[in-house]
Amino acid sequence: MAKVLKSDYLTCGPKIAELEERLCRLTGAKYAVAVSNGTAALHIACLAAGVEKGNEVITTPITFAASANCALYCGARPVFADICEHTYNIDPESVEKCFTEKTRAVVAVDFTGQAVELDPLKELCEKRGAVLIEDGAHSIGTSYKGKMVGSIADMTTFSFHPVKTVTGGEGGAVLTDNAEYYKKLVLFRAHGITREPSLLQRDSEGGWYYEQIALGMNYRMTDIQAALILSQLDKLDAFRERRKAIVARYDEAFSVMPELAVQEEIPESDTTRHLYILRIRPEKLTVGRKQFFDAMAAENICCNVHYIPVYYHPYYEKLGYQKGLCPRAEKLYEEIMSLPLYYAMTDEDVEDVIKAVKKVVENYRK
Ligand SMILES: *Cc1c(COP(=O)(O)O)cnc(C)c1O
Repeated sequence: MAKVLKSDYLTCGPKIAELEERLCRLTGAKYAVAVSNGTAALHIACLAAGVEKGNEVITTPITFAASANCALYCGARPVFADICEHTYNIDPESVEKCFTEKTRAVVAVDFTGQAVELDPLKELCEKRGAVLIEDGAHSIGTSYKGKMVGSIADMTTFSFHPVKTVTGGEGGAVLTDNAEYYKKLVLFRAHGITREPSLLQRDSEGGWYYEQIALGMNYRMTDIQAALILSQLDKLDAFRERRKAIVARYDEAFSVMPELAVQEEIPESDTTRHLYILRIRPEKLTVGRKQFFDAMAAENICCNVHYIPVYYHPYYEKLGYQKGLCPRAEKLYEEIMSLPLYYAMTDEDVEDVIKAVKKVVENYRK
């Protein structure tokens, strides 16, 4: 990063190309387009997929709002499919039921880092003529049936926000094997402006000449961010192994406790876990999630909840969405909190968290 700051380029320089090549090498995708953040990545992926007014885009309610907002940005309507009860990822059968003749794309989120059921979702999208966009904000480093996330769906998006496994302060990327999508992604990233001779619609008027041929945004990433992400990617294997070890220890401790449920993994996913979800079974406890969450805070363990179902938010309510849409997702939301999970966590930190969970369970066991 220091070298970039002293170089000729602060944005759109050689580090962007280096990062894009690196992401292609990591995932096996043919093309990568680095952008300013994961939300921008989802937006231009929807635009490249041709999502427009009157269309529908199917996604999960158990995600960050951006996975649905990207449809709204394009004038389309998000349609929420329910999740699988035990993996917490979008349920392909529920997706199938949500399809209409207006469906243009499916935004499938690798929740917590676990790959969605890509094969059934791909087959469904191919059959129904929709574009499969994988929101891989949580899943960099994950593979599905031995293929890296980023090389499987029509387009895959990453986020490099500081809470994610790999960060650049801010940052995002779209990966694809499709040359047509790639061309569009590059245009939408930077105003819809091009200097590419094969894309110009008129004769060049000279060395300065460029044309705006679509309505794009300014979603560029800086070279400073790209340099940070590159150095973070050097550590991805270490990040993955440490996160896996912490998850294994949590699972070992919690799977024997009947008051808790452990997230199930599909065997196809070799997961680099971004989040660890602690799920309580309220029928076995005298308290609900809120009191459990507060009791964890009293033990000095800071938890969070991922996520409030997207359509619960007042903005979505105003658009006409109502509770009751996705019962499995709504039930999940009532019973979960995310435990600390990060690379620098020591074994002692992990044991502290486990001790606190055990103490709270013992205090409130039925
Ligand atoms: C973080 C996140 C995003 C948005 O990424 P930003 O880089 O913060 O814009 C999108 N989808 C999911 C599932 C996320 O967790």
